[in-house]
Amino acid sequence: MIIPLNRLFLSGNEIKYIEDTFKKGEITANNFYTQKVQKFIENNYNFKKTLLTTSATDALEMAFILLNLQAGDEVIMPSYTFVSTANAVMLRGAKPIFVDIDEKLNINPHLIENAITNKTKAILPVHYAGVACDMDSIMDIANKYNLYVVEDAAQGINAKHKADYLGGIGDLGCYSFHGTKNISSGEGGALLINSNDESILRRATNVWEKGTNRTQFIAGLVDKYTWVDIGSSFAPADILAAYLYAQLEQLDFITAKRQEVYENYILGLQEFADNNLIKLPVIPDYATPNYHIFYIIFTAAKDRDIVLKYLQSKGIGAAFHFIPLHSSPMGEKLGYKRNDFPNTEKMASSILRLPIYPNLTTVEQAYILEHLTVILKSLL
Ligand SMILES: *Cc1c(COP(=O)(O)O)cnc(C)c1O
Repeated sequence: MIIPLNRLFLSGNEIKYIEDTFKKGEITANNFYTQKVQKFIENNYNFKKTLLTTSATDALEMAFILLNLQAGDEVIMPSYTFVSTANAVMLRGAKPIFVDIDEKLNINPHLIENAITNKTKAILPVHYAGVACDMDSIMDIANKYNLYVVEDAAQGINAKHKADYLGGIGDLGCYSFHGTKNISSGEGGALLINSNDESILRRATNVWEKGTNRTQFIAGLVDKYTWVDIGSSFAPADILAAYLYAQLEQLDFITAKRQEVYENYILGLQEFADNNLIKLPVIPDYATPNYHIFYIIFTAAKDRDIVLKYLQSKGIGAAFHFIPLHSSPMGEKLGYKRNDFPNTEKMASSILRLPIYPNLTTVEQAYILEHLTVILKSLL
């Protein structure tokens, strides 16, 4: 049996909606399905504005253009994240300032204040696995020091912090619709805007439309369409938005199926957590997750490597995650060294992720748990 870490899931309406864009004759950006998806997210999640982008990477880059991030500025973020979180800051000539994570694999809010300097412009929390960061603490610090908050909610669609959807708590946020995320358009993303700063809202569509006021022109608000700001080609083809809309319609079903898989893993692995061989994921009271990732943390990192190898030999797509950014070649160029962030390194070397998706069959999940049980028992 071969069980990949990720598997394509189609809701059934993707082709139909893509064909509909051909019938409408409108396949370029900011057409029927783009607006449908944006309205759906704004209305259901109570966001001020949503703009579809070609990736979360793009959405993060847009966010820091909108915040006028400049050379010399600093942005506080975890090192345990994907490269795009840091690149968006670097591309504006600014510097990522890493801080350690907690046992929930999210930025440790108690370490943020120590990292603030007079150059700090923003805090960039990453909601790992679709489990909310401690946003109350983070927003309190941001308010106290007058900093922006940009949420990397690339993994966080449909997940909440208390009553609020992830990505909509800070000034700006992003989602990813990459093929490995809960819903996808192959490659895709969204910028979520909730800032009270009117100039951010006003500039956003211009930056999105290559630095032009095309959106205002189409709406009949200006009589010429011209160059008004810096910008880039951030908006995806409507064909991709059509695919995404078909996925979005099934989001609650997808989340529920993932939850089933997640809870079945918890049940099957509880005895090994009780024996202290592993730790199961911690979901704090304030978080409603979207079951994006199922992971376990090994008490001993060497056990992780043994189990990973064994599962892979059985055709199971188990994996680890994120080489911490501070210990990468780019991180070293920024002056960081190994051991700067002990918890990040400990987690990165002892995490194991297991397949989780709506079309993981019960037979497949039983197969994974059976082999996992054999190898874990041998380590007790
Ligand atoms: C997937 C991911 C990204 C990048 O998303 P893309 O849409 O592929 O650009 C950024 N940050 C985190 C935390 C991610 O998991």
